[in-house]
Amino acid sequence: MNIGVLALQGAFIEHEAVLRALGATVTQVRLAADLEPLDGLVIPGGESTTIGKLATNFGLMQPLRDFAQTRPTWGTCAGMIFLAKDIGIDRQPILSVMDITVNRNAFGRQIDSFEVDLPIKGLGALPFHAVFIRAPLATAAGPEVDVLARLETQQIVAARQGHLLATAFHPELTPDTRMHEYFLRLAR
Ligand code: GLN
Repeated sequence: MNIGVLALQGAFIEHEAVLRALGATVTQVRLAADLEPLDGLVIPGGESTTIGKLATNFGLMQPLRDFAQTRPTWGTCAGMIFLAKDIGIDRQPILSVMDITVNRNAFGRQIDSFEVDLPIKGLGALPFHAVFIRAPLATAAGPEVDVLARLETQQIVAARQGHLLATAFHPELTPDTRMHEYFLRLAR
């Protein structure tokens, strides 16, 4: 399995480490050509405005969009924002490939970051310790979207649409590798 991690900004090293530990070959993606051999792509958390700016400057927006339209792609946190069809802001470049409406910084500022044990569909009975850092959430999901996790407030924080996966939290920052294993199964 050759998994790419978009390596423009944000927590790409952490994703790379988990994926390697699970036996995947990992490619840091900075050029359109880096996408060609991949079985799947992870778009990490970070700052979605910065990732969008850099992807635009590197000529990566359309290649990333083409990739995510047909091939396994997982966005975490800022990556979830990047995948969404609608974030209620016109100025910020996003891929607009996944049928979710996402609210950026939905929980407030950096200081309002939190951790919660979250039951996630497809990961088994044990809840997943989810770390939310200035996280987004999905306020709506289209009919083709399978919601995998909601907070107690019912807000959507993990979802899948066919080959697309989105999580509002940071699974690469905890030792539990089940979310990465889930994506590798999806990419296989
Ligand atoms: N707040 C960031 C954004 O809007 C996302 C934070 C994160 O990825 N941890 O892009």
